[in-house]
Order: sequence, then C-alpha cells, then structure tokens
Amino acid sequence: DQQQYDYDVLVIGAGPGGYVAAIRAAQLGLKTACAESRETLGGTCLNVGCIPSKALLHASELFEEATGGHLAKFGVDIQGATLNLDQMHAEKAKAVKELTGGIEFLFKKNKVTWLKGRAAFQNDHSVQVGDQTVTARDIVIATGSSVTPLTGVEIDQKVVVDSTGALALPKVPEHLVVIGGGVIGLELGSVWRRLGAKVTVVEYVDQILPGFDGEVRREAGKLFKKQGMEFLLSTKVTGVTVDGDRATVSVEPAAGGEATTLDADAVLVAIGRKPNIDGLNLDAAGVKLTDRGQVAIDHDFATNVDGIWAIGDVAPGLMLAHKAEDEGIAVAENIAGQTGIVNHDIIPSVVYTTPEIAGVGLSEEAAKEKVGEIKVGKFPFAANSRAKTNRDTDGFVKVIADAKTDRVLGAWIISSLAGTMIAQVAQAMEFGATSEDIAYTCHAHPTHSEAIKEAAMGVTGKPIHV
Ligand code: FAD
Repeated sequence: DQQQYDYDVLVIGAGPGGYVAAIRAAQLGLKTACAESRETLGGTCLNVGCIPSKALLHASELFEEATGGHLAKFGVDIQGATLNLDQMHAEKAKAVKELTGGIEFLFKKNKVTWLKGRAAFQNDHSVQVGDQTVTARDIVIATGSSVTPLTGVEIDQKVVVDSTGALALPKVPEHLVVIGGGVIGLELGSVWRRLGAKVTVVEYVDQILPGFDGEVRREAGKLFKKQGMEFLLSTKVTGVTVDGDRATVSVEPAAGGEATTLDADAVLVAIGRKPNIDGLNLDAAGVKLTDRGQVAIDHDFATNVDGIWAIGDVAPGLMLAHKAEDEGIAVAENIAGQTGIVNHDIIPSVVYTTPEIAGVGLSEEAAKEKVGEIKVGKFPFAANSRAKTNRDTDGFVKVIADAKTDRVLGAWIISSLAGTMIAQVAQAMEFGATSEDIAYTCHAHPTHSEAIKEAAMGVTGKPIHV
C-alpha cells in the first residue's frame, strides 16, 4: 500500500520470540523496531527464566557433586567444600548480563531500533510506546507470559515467591514448599534441595510433569524421591498464611477430605503461566483472543486483523523459548512474503534436572489414542557402557513408532544428557525417519547416544546389550 509508516515492522516484546522476529525481519531488509518495557532485552527467558535457572541448576549440581560424595567416588577428594551463595548468584547475574547485552549488540548490528517503554495499541497500525507514537505496516505481538496467581496466596517475593523470587533467594531455606509439580517447580525445587533445603512439592493431579509420557512421569517421580524430594500428589493448596519469616501452607486432598498444614520458611508458587495481554489495548486494534485468553492466530501466525501477528507464549502452544524463537523466524519470513512454517508436532520439551528429562512428539498414551497400533522400544542407561563408566545410570530411552509404517511418533529420554540427545530424534522425525532408520545409523561408542540407537533397535527387533 502507499501509506507511509515509521517502520515496516514493529515487534512488541523482546523475548526469544520478539527479538528473533525483529532480527530476522531486519535481515530480510525490512525497517524494524522492537518495543520492550524491561530495562534489558531477552524477555523472561534471558532475564528471569531459562538462563538464570540453568545457571543455578549448573552451580548447585557442582555443589552437590562436591559435597555429596560423587567427586570423592572418582578419587577427587575435596575436603570441606562450602557454599558461597552470593558468589553463585553473582556468576548467574554475569551470564544473564552477557547474554542480554549480546541481544543489544545483535540489534545494533542488524539495525533494529529498540523502543524503550510499554506498548499499547492506538489502532491497527499505530502503537503508543512510552510517550511516543509509532506506526508500522506490520505489527508482531510477542509480549510473552507471566506467573499465574493462585487464589488465596499472595506473593510477597520474600517468604512466598514466584519463579523470579526463587531465582534470587538470599539464603537457603530450611523447608521450601513448591506448589506445582511442573517443569519450573521441579527445576527450582532441585536447585534448593541440592543446596541443602528440605523440599516438598504439592501437586494437584496424581503425577508430576503433566503433559509428559506416563512412564516417564512415574520414573521421574521415583528418581526425585530417591534424591530426597518429598511429594504430596493429588493434593491441593487452599491457602498460605505468613507470620514474620514463616509460612503455613494449608493443604487438603484434591478429591476433598481432611485438611492439614505444612510449616515452611519459603513457598514457591509455580502453577503455570498466563499470556501477557493486560494494558496492550488489543480492543483498539480489534484483535481477537482464544477462550483461554491467548491471542488467536492461524497457521501463519496472523491474527484476525490484517498486518497484526502473534508468536511465543502470548499465542497458543507450548510455552517454550525455542518454540517462540522458531515462530519469530517464521513470522518475519511470512511478513516478507516468504513461507515461514513451524512444525508444532515436533517441539522438544526438556526438564533440566539431574537426570534431565526430555521428550519430543507423542507420549505412549497419546500415540495409542491417535494412531492405534504402536510399537515401543526401550533401553536403560544401566546397560549403556558410557553411562556405566560415568556412574550415571539413572533413566532410559523410549522410542515410539507406528506399528504399520514404523515411522517414529515420539521419543522420551531420562538421562544426564537428555536435553542434548533429544535433538537427534527431533531431527530424525523431521526427516520422517522410521525406527529402523535410527537403528541402522552408526552411533559413536562409547556415548550415551547409543542408548537411542538400541531403543530404536528394540522397536521392531531386539537391542544387543540387554
Ligand atoms: P517473553 O520471554 O516473556 O518476553 C516478552 C517480553 O515482552 C518481556 O520482556 C516483556 O517485558 C515484554 N512486554 C510485555 N508486554 C509489553 C508491552 N505492552 N510493551 C512492551 N514490552 C512488553 N523455556 C525453555 O524453552 N527452556 C527453559 O529452560 C525455560 N526455563 C524457564 C524457567 C523459568 C523460571 C521460566 C519462568 C520460564 C522458562 N522457560 C523456559 C519459558 C520461556 O522463558 C518462555 O517460553 C519464553 O521466554 C517465551 O518467549 P516470548 O518471547 O514469547 O516471551
């Protein structure tokens, strides 16, 4: 069209969805700006999500290896290792600063203009950012998500914290109660357990990790219990009261029954996240939502309004950084007139605990429901030579295939290296691989990855090492 706009593309939000969309749009020759209300770029993921949580998971794992006897087992004697929590937080902050600064550098390099301030629509091509008004031909909503509150529980970020508070506790709690047995609760619960806290996870349904493969959920529950984490499953939290630096958590069976209380000095609310649409003034542009309050989009990430798009946590689908990033690339390509596609059936999910838990594609239950006849191959790390050598034998690989076509429908891995290993199966699935394709691919020895090959061998035949 002939109308003049300030920008070809305005992206709202600079998380993994938004910053990637902005960089790709600029790479494609579009004049691009990105509005962000936070002081730094990178969104939830870099500032208070993926990155600081992984920094604490890594550091706390080193602490536990040093103090828990794991290093000593290998003849590395460290007498009197102690925790310097301030240093741990400082190293985490350094990683966050380097990475958020890296996005700022990439914006400059690609000539993406960073508009600082909160954005609100004025109409379908005009957005107020702070005290300026900018117009754009195409606008991408990438405002992400924030913590879902729990009725009756007030977050004070001191005793009762959300994930952001739990990433910055100034001392190790004696007893941390985690409300919610999902990814975030288990990761942050693991951090503080390793550093010395007693950790109790309260979960409403009868297993942790909703959405994961049933067998994987049960095995993960057993492993976390073995590590000393306590679980109250099929249990609901009805309220939390705080008195000074202590909290009393009221719980009762999810199905109803006698109420009891837990005494804690820290409570983490981790029951989920909700799309960020408050204050965006979507009505002014006429953008429609789904019945779950996400911005409604089609296969191309287009909303119901011409020229307005949405990606990442604010749109439907898994709330994961790599999903947001891939959508960021695809939406920019669509805006530029190319064909940007994300295959939402093949998005890996990873829990970065020890061991890690990863899956891609369908769970066994979902595969049965969707395809009917399936075949499953499994291989335990207790029979993998490298895992045995490293004294790292918890977990297994499970490959699920269509019984008729042998096409791989999903894979699940519990292993110290699961998050890295799952990429192999995701790629195989993108290429339409059968279990036989994986089974006949040569894998280096001795590696944990051989367990994937052997699980695949077990789909239609037999693995060698069990
Ligand atoms: P966000 O990252 O939420 O970014 C949106 C940005 O938009 C924010 O910076 C916000 O300030 C800005 N914004 C919102 N409204 C406006 C407005 N009106 N004007 C201007 N700016 C606005 N995912 C993984 O894949 N792996 C992990 O290991 C992982 N770990 C996590 C750990 C924790 C503790 C948490 C909380 C999340 C984790 N996630 C992880 C999820 C991941 O962080 C999100 O899926 C991802 O950040 C979503 O990206 P996004 O770009 O959609 O939104």
